[in-house]
Amino acid sequence: MTPLIAANWKMNGLGRDGKDRVRKLLSHVAANKHKCDIVVCPPATLLASIAGLLTGSPVALGGQDCHAAGSGAHTGDVSAPMLADVGCRHVIVGHSERRADHRETDAVVGSKAAAAHASGLTAIVCVGESENQRDGGETLAVVGAQLVGSLPHSVNAENTVVAYEPIWAIGTGRTPTLDEVSQVHEFIGEKLRDAFPDDGDRVRILYGGSVKPSNAADLLAIQRVNGALVGGASLNADDFWAICQSCP
Ligand code: PEP
Repeated sequence: MTPLIAANWKMNGLGRDGKDRVRKLLSHVAANKHKCDIVVCPPATLLASIAGLLTGSPVALGGQDCHAAGSGAHTGDVSAPMLADVGCRHVIVGHSERRADHRETDAVVGSKAAAAHASGLTAIVCVGESENQRDGGETLAVVGAQLVGSLPHSVNAENTVVAYEPIWAIGTGRTPTLDEVSQVHEFIGEKLRDAFPDDGDRVRILYGGSVKPSNAADLLAIQRVNGALVGGASLNADDFWAICQSCP
């Protein structure tokens, strides 16, 4: 399975620095071989200009969220058809920051993923436990319930990627041990196989949470880790490229 390395810029980047970052990434891509698929998810304001830079390159464009509806009276939101129209091939749904900031439930996340599928986008569906839940031994139960609630019937290996992101590891510099990551990824793999017998084994499972050049190779070497969702380190094109280069 080809690994996928996805950059989540979150609410960072104005026109010039976003474009400079992408130009730098593209210069690395042009000058070197890479063994992964690469997606960049800038803020919505930069999608159109970055789409222009990525045209003809192997780097794909992604949104950071979409509304479940295709259009309508939803001030400030962006729909999946709009993302597809601007050139996106992917969209992140259910990131823990949106689950927290916008009170997104599993059902909401599932309808966003279904909307992404209906527009031909690959949904990167995020799941992950809080620190309290991990300390309470609830990690697998929490992640299992999020998967059941957030994955629509339309899932297949091409249109869906699952990202396991322990909330306490996001932006903190802390990561689970390699064994802990492996345990959760194997568990997600089993759940995907059970729920989608035809395709579950081929759905990529990304790890996210403080991935950086210094830990990427160890994380990406884990059997069912099929790539990474990278936040902070994706804001530096050299660091993000180093993570891409860490794929086995
Ligand atoms: C994220 O928010 O998706 C993420 C993984 O962030 P960071 O890499 O900064 O922990």
